[in-house]
Amino acid sequence: MALLEIHDLEVKFALRSGPVTALRDISFSLDRGQRLGIVGESGAGKSVAAFSILNLISRPGYISKGKILFDGNDLAQLNPSQLRNVRGNRISMIFQDPMMTLNPVLTVGAQMVESLQAHTRISRQEARKIALEKLRLVHIPSPEKRLDQYPHELSGGMKQRIIIAIALLLNPDIIIADEPTTALDVTIQAEIMDLLLELCEDRNLGLILITHDLGVVSQVTERTIVMYAGRIIEMGPTKEIINDAQHPYTQGLINALPQQGIPGRRLNQIPGSMPPLQQLPNGCAFHPRCAYAKAACKEQIPAFTQSGGCQVACHMVAELVNQAGKSPALENSPSTGQDS
Ligand code: SF4
Repeated sequence: MALLEIHDLEVKFALRSGPVTALRDISFSLDRGQRLGIVGESGAGKSVAAFSILNLISRPGYISKGKILFDGNDLAQLNPSQLRNVRGNRISMIFQDPMMTLNPVLTVGAQMVESLQAHTRISRQEARKIALEKLRLVHIPSPEKRLDQYPHELSGGMKQRIIIAIALLLNPDIIIADEPTTALDVTIQAEIMDLLLELCEDRNLGLILITHDLGVVSQVTERTIVMYAGRIIEMGPTKEIINDAQHPYTQGLINALPQQGIPGRRLNQIPGSMPPLQQLPNGCAFHPRCAYAKAACKEQIPAFTQSGGCQVACHMVAELVNQAGKSPALENSPSTGQDS
């Protein structure tokens, strides 16, 4: 049994207009030392999936079905105090915006000491020593000085390193990072990703990386889940997904990466946009945007088919595999109108 196993997870939002299903049939697992990426456009459900692992979905959202097994315990069934023991202690989260985690009126040291003392019975002096050790671990320059600084005195990259240090305070088994570099410039993004990779390898940490950026996923993760409209539509080894994506949506995401464009040509994008969850079409939710849609796609939700090392939810996967080398999104989608 893997350290974390998600089985048939379903999350709903109780809206005035009626319940809306935000996640359906989500199943995956993660063990110590494994690195998993969850990708998709905004609204695909990837952040809801991440938040629901720690039961952090706020009302009107709720887990309506499924199991979240961590070390054999179902997190969906734990009471608030049992859940607090898991959060931070065993599974930590890193958010996109450091200011969601950092308190602007407390020094970095005070926040780290406070976090440690909230979970453990140690003295202030011991807590400060551990905080310093974690700042060194994330390669913060002049760590002693940083302990006495306020968040506004630090750069964006430094703040994100401090968030990672806070996430490591209690030596968790798993870190869930929700778009951890979106607010940072490209060079700092690469440094933070290198740091996460190093920490996972050196400390046998499990990582769930939530991102809209397949480039980031290819840099850090071993396995990738692609989500669309609240469902998993493709999952498998990251290398295979990047080099040989089978689902038309995944192919579209890859073709939209800037480096895939030929110099002087226009960038590719997937035509249309993701439907709102209240108005999902019947059948495959991607069918209004898919160049391969057939009659069955408009009526039946595709089940997973094993294709190579990947599982793909597409009625046409066998046909697409036979068209090796052909890229539907690249050939059929209109351009964005931007020059690459
Ligand atoms: Fe396209 Fe049909 Fe596959 Fe959906 S099931 S991705 S509509 S071919």
